[in-house]
Amino acid sequence: MKITRCKTDHLSQPLGFHLERPVLSWCVEDARGKVQTAARVVVAADAKLQSILFDTGFRADIDSTGFALPLALAPRTRYHWAVTVRTDAGEQAQSEPHWFETAKMEEPWQAAWIGCDDGEPRHPLFCRELPLAGPVADARLYICGLGLYEAFLNGEKIGDEFLAPGCNNYNAWLQYQTYDITAALQKGGRLEVLLGNGWYKGRFGFMRSEKSFYGDAWKLIAEVRVRYRDGREAVFGTDEAWQVRRSRITFSNIYDGERTDATLPELPAEKAVLCAAPAAALNARYSAPVTAHARLAAKLMVTPAGEAVLDMGQNIAGIFRLCVHEPAGTQVRLQFGETLQDGCFYRDNLRTARAEYVFVSDGGEHVLQPHFTFFGARYVKLEGIAQPNAEDFIALPLSSELEKTGALQTGHGLVNRLVSNVEWSCRDNFIDVPTDCPQRDERMGWTGDAQVFCPTACYLYDAYPFYRKYLRDMATEQAARGGLVPNVIPAFGMDDTSSVWGDAAVLIPWTLYRFSGDRSILEAQFDAMKAWVDYITRIDGADCGWRRAFHFGDWLALDAPGAAGDGTRGATDEDFIADVSYMHSAELTAQAAAVLQREEERGRYEALAQRLRRRIEREFYSPAGRCCVNTQTGLLLTLRHALAPTGRTRDALRKKLADAGDKLQTGFVGTPLLCNILHENGMEDLSEKLLLNEEYPGWLHEVKLGATTVWERWNSLDENGRVSSTGMNSLNHYAYGAVLEWMYRHLAGLQPLAAGFRRVRLEPTPVWALKHLDCTYHSAAGAWQVSWQIEDATHLALEVSVPFGCTAELALPLAGAEVFADGKNPLFADVQEGVCRLSAGRYAVRYQTSVPLHTVLTTAMPVETLLRDPAARALLLRAMPQLTQLPARLQSLPMCTLAAQMGGQAAAAQLDRLDEALQNL
Ligand code: BGC
Repeated sequence: MKITRCKTDHLSQPLGFHLERPVLSWCVEDARGKVQTAARVVVAADAKLQSILFDTGFRADIDSTGFALPLALAPRTRYHWAVTVRTDAGEQAQSEPHWFETAKMEEPWQAAWIGCDDGEPRHPLFCRELPLAGPVADARLYICGLGLYEAFLNGEKIGDEFLAPGCNNYNAWLQYQTYDITAALQKGGRLEVLLGNGWYKGRFGFMRSEKSFYGDAWKLIAEVRVRYRDGREAVFGTDEAWQVRRSRITFSNIYDGERTDATLPELPAEKAVLCAAPAAALNARYSAPVTAHARLAAKLMVTPAGEAVLDMGQNIAGIFRLCVHEPAGTQVRLQFGETLQDGCFYRDNLRTARAEYVFVSDGGEHVLQPHFTFFGARYVKLEGIAQPNAEDFIALPLSSELEKTGALQTGHGLVNRLVSNVEWSCRDNFIDVPTDCPQRDERMGWTGDAQVFCPTACYLYDAYPFYRKYLRDMATEQAARGGLVPNVIPAFGMDDTSSVWGDAAVLIPWTLYRFSGDRSILEAQFDAMKAWVDYITRIDGADCGWRRAFHFGDWLALDAPGAAGDGTRGATDEDFIADVSYMHSAELTAQAAAVLQREEERGRYEALAQRLRRRIEREFYSPAGRCCVNTQTGLLLTLRHALAPTGRTRDALRKKLADAGDKLQTGFVGTPLLCNILHENGMEDLSEKLLLNEEYPGWLHEVKLGATTVWERWNSLDENGRVSSTGMNSLNHYAYGAVLEWMYRHLAGLQPLAAGFRRVRLEPTPVWALKHLDCTYHSAAGAWQVSWQIEDATHLALEVSVPFGCTAELALPLAGAEVFADGKNPLFADVQEGVCRLSAGRYAVRYQTSVPLHTVLTTAMPVETLLRDPAARALLLRAMPQLTQLPARLQSLPMCTLAAQMGGQAAAAQLDRLDEALQNL
């Protein structure tokens, strides 16, 4: 038995993070026992856990998904902790010691904010020597530099993060980081801090000017704390004794890139000046570090236009390293784009973002790497390099560092690529803020995108710390706007809101709670959740004023005119979407109140939700329950929120899809619901079909056109690979990647019944075309595993593992009564109403299914039946492309009859071949 995944506030060994009442969590693996009978948490001042500061003793009520440590913490202190767990099998194991270290907390800084002449574009390098008075036991650097900073000790970069101090609402709070510099400082030396513009000081957001939103002055505060081995301490804080040298970086910002001129002369050092502290308070960091999570080599090509272009093989968000050695005065330029057009470099869809890196050579050998920008790209155009060489280049994809929790693989190559595309889009858009896209002149924390993707992100990563910081920013922006949630967070001056987008204030904390089981996120955000619902209530007034406010609606849905071009609005009534989302937010706020045992608020928001439900039913449904918002999304919302009798709505939705050729037409509101709701209402045949559809519009259509990330529009590129529009068209938007949530919930079948996945309904769905599926999910409560394998049309093999301390209800797919009769298999030790009740352990079963997993298709079937099956359709259209033109009245003919009519003698042989191919599908 061992104890794993020990975390503090969902981070492993956090150094210098904001810690108030840290929440400790852990998992138990390889135990003989099934459940924890008692646990004991010990916190000590030393790694050997001898100098005990806190000891719970063995207690039965300690929860491994979140134990809030009731210990008053001191600043700049490392706390060591371990947990001992006892199980019902009499085992006992202790975790390795883990630590967390506080930052400065309330302690005043022994440092001042310093600045320099901001008129000089050459980015400043603040420096000072660190003279030491003895051997160092411990040294820390506490630092915040605005807009962005990188710190170096004796020329070596400190830490491995990029784009610090991160992107947040700088008007409300500033984050400082803490670095352990003990090893690097042993011999003393020179501390240097390079400043750039970034989000604080550079052009960013919808303000179409070079002016920055938050500030226009470079500012730095830093404090080095040294503890000598003999116990003495020294503090080196920023003050006027620091010097400022000028780097050769002459330009930087997030959208436009960076420029360095190596030919510039050395300038005499200036003296740093004391400057006014920014108005916002300095806070210990919330942001997880942004680091390079991979290194990708690229291939070099020469395009038809004669351009030297590197192909990274993957659309990424990140930076690069490039070795150059060009004659003095040569301008080396790298430009970034997501796709080629006619085989040539292209980047018009980046709009005004220049997204380029420029370097003027001094004739020496250099390794180029941007400091204060990042690019969203797959292709890099090189200019100014006499003999470009792919080996000189390496891409460094960046992302906020989070623990990967989910992995899902099937036997279907295109579906696996889709899974990978969603994961890449997630990483690419998790650059300190959950962004819409990483490449064009936006890259902002759009609330709608963040909200619809959050459950998927929570299957893929332990995204708790990432969203916690985003939510903190959201609360600060709301506080300044009477509860209104601006459409982007941080707001960068935006004061507009919309339904669904603003509902992020309620949906994201609720999702985090459901996934983590840690209610502290509800405690932290409850006031902001209420503030959003109360804001809507105020606007709504006595005459449905919320409907009259601006709403994005089912953004980018295909059912409104103009959708295939630059159109953005869907056909679903926006009043309806606004009312339903308002009701949903009120419901979830009531549920959060229930978790927090706040009875008065629970009652109040429940009553509001009920009032809204009645209003929606009155306004948008006939007395018999017919929905007047007759779109795919309208019907999905109806089912999702049980707004009308299910049977009628289900039929209407099936018809609606059939009218569209069983193709989706949904946008940001409908798409995340689509497969889940179909599945949960007995229409899994349709959700599978939508997933597997390879034609426009659909997920695999993009994959077939070469997508390596998820596109913003269903037709971002057309069949010929042409960019459909340039107004708003990114190839790296994760919103539609929300389909992965359905794959985890329903294809793997991992549905939480209790927060933190302590109790789970396992209801896997074997899909013939996928052949097999293997899924692991490291939930807060432990690692769940589900694998199914279709052996043949009637045999299925299934394996599941239930983690320690958890229970599951397993619904075996397509299992007849005889399967449950196998008394020797522990899977069937406790079966109630056809559901296997499982405790921790690994289980496996192989059985004959009650109905075939697959209907063998033949050419004796009607053409329309064959065309409805995605794989058969692809096969038939390859063999007989003219079938696309087939008049509707002929579609009910058996395929063989039609083929005979169309092709005479030759058809017979072709039909045999088709039958064989259909059988093997
Ligand atoms: C963004 C979206 C966002 C939308 C708001 C776009 O420019 O890229 O993803 O949600 O605006 O409607």
